[in-house]
Amino acid sequence: MRATAAPVCKDVRFACDVHLGRLAAYLRMPGFDTLYRNDQSDAGLVALAGAEERVLLTRDVRLLMCGAVTCGAFVRATIPEAQLREVVRRYGLRALARPFRRCIRCNGLTAPVSRAEILDQLQPKTRRYYDEFWRCQVCGQIYWRGSHVQRMQELIDRAFADQCR
Ligand SMILES: [Zn+2]
Repeated sequence: MRATAAPVCKDVRFACDVHLGRLAAYLRMPGFDTLYRNDQSDAGLVALAGAEERVLLTRDVRLLMCGAVTCGAFVRATIPEAQLREVVRRYGLRALARPFRRCIRCNGLTAPVSRAEILDQLQPKTRRYYDEFWRCQVCGQIYWRGSHVQRMQELIDRAFADQCR
């Protein structure tokens, strides 16, 4: 029996270190709760990840050796898309993906928003061709299924494709 309750990587919430901003965005695309801040010291990040029971993802071995890290993982890959694939595989994320429910910019949750409500914020082309929109409930960023979403979906598909090997 354990005397102290060791925090467990019980779910798939992440914190990315300051060098893994692209990976953070890539993890948010399929909907994973991923903390990323580039204004945080290493100690601050470690404390926040611990407090929120997040898996701390880093390529900095020294950071992982810090005694305060309760749940961390070294990311081997150097290219962001390969990093996503590595994390997806390591944590078995495939079944848990829920694309586009989370804001890529700030990690906030998105919610459907009516076209009328945001009409004045849209470019003419977007206004003309799209009817379905989502808005980040934290920062207000607006999303729609444009070509950028198609590219994101392809990236996610590639990262999640080879899970069975
Ligand atoms: Zn946002």
